[in-house]
Amino acid sequence: MKLRLVTLFCFVLLIAFGVSTTLRALDPPKSSGSSAASKSGEGSKDESAKDDAKSKKSTPLSKSKKMSDPFNKLTKDEADVIIRKGTEARNKGYTNSKVVGTYICKRCNAPLYNSTGKFESDCGWPAFDDEIKGSVKRQPDRDGSGRIEIVCQNCDGHLGHVFFGEQLTAKNTRHCVNSISIKLIPRGKEIPEMIKADDEAQATPAKSSEESSPVKTPGK
Ligand SMILES: [Zn+2]
Repeated sequence: MKLRLVTLFCFVLLIAFGVSTTLRALDPPKSSGSSAASKSGEGSKDESAKDDAKSKKSTPLSKSKKMSDPFNKLTKDEADVIIRKGTEARNKGYTNSKVVGTYICKRCNAPLYNSTGKFESDCGWPAFDDEIKGSVKRQPDRDGSGRIEIVCQNCDGHLGHVFFGEQLTAKNTRHCVNSISIKLIPRGKEIPEMIKADDEAQATPAKSSEESSPVKTPGK
């Protein structure tokens, strides 16, 4: 009989303990309760993570604003090619254009190609067998492909690549140019004034032109 009472007492104690524990857990304000606390802790981590993400996103933007240059403002697609040296999709823009005029640099307005040098190469991009003298700089492509990159002499904007020895024209040269890097000014229309690179910007190209000097055009 005593044993039963003790067992019963213990049972009641267990229930009482269980109930009080449950009540603590259910009571949010006082119980900086373990579960509630950890959840809110996670929540604040998430929020701080979001804040981090926001600040990370805003940082590059503010940096790019600081890197303002004197040249024409570029859209993202233009900058992807002209600044970040990408390649546009085939058969865009001026690929098959036969309009007579002058092609200028999209970034700085420097006259780069005359339509007289344009020819059909079926390569998918506008092709020229000659540039306006002194307007285009050649340099080994940094991608290690062995190709020769062509950039605007004035602003260093990426134009495309130049290939030799394909026997496509008498000049045996093909400037493969992204349409998005250039702008056609039809004959008779005024060519906008070239935006000259400032001294600081000119200092950099001077070095790379020395690097590119060993690359010479066969037949030129
Ligand atoms: Zn340019």
